[in-house]
Amino acid sequence: MEENDLVSIGPDIYERDQRMAPGAANAWRLMVAAAAGDDIPLQAVSAYRSVDYQAGIVRRKLEKGASINEILQVSAAPGYSEHHTGRAIDITTPGFAVLEEEFETSAAFRWLNLHAADFGFSLSFPRGNPHGVAYEPWHWAWKAPGNRGPSS
Ligand SMILES: [Zn+2]
Repeated sequence: MEENDLVSIGPDIYERDQRMAPGAANAWRLMVAAAAGDDIPLQAVSAYRSVDYQAGIVRRKLEKGASINEILQVSAAPGYSEHHTGRAIDITTPGFAVLEEEFETSAAFRWLNLHAADFGFSLSFPRGNPHGVAYEPWHWAWKAPGNRGPSS
């Protein structure tokens, strides 16, 4: 993803401006509005991340003493994160810990399971996913129409 092609989706819960690929950004805005209409607040935690940013995440965890194997169970290696594509977004909703499995018990998660596909979003890493990635109920990715296979 070329950084110049990204468009803003507004601030995340930490007041950082988040960006996505144009198609994904449009779909996200429509989905947030539809959810709000059902009294479901969807909030962005993290959308596009550069390879450098991902490298920083891994580096900070290494500095805190985690092993690379431990880190790669929960964080993609720089260059391999779906967040580099501009199509992935980590989602939360008020009252739930950010990037924790408890998000799966939220009304927002139930809403996403019912409606996200209508906007082109799907859960990238469901339980027992074939990628061997830890279950991430908060991580959803958009696929362009006509390019919606069962996996990325
Ligand atoms: Zn994610």
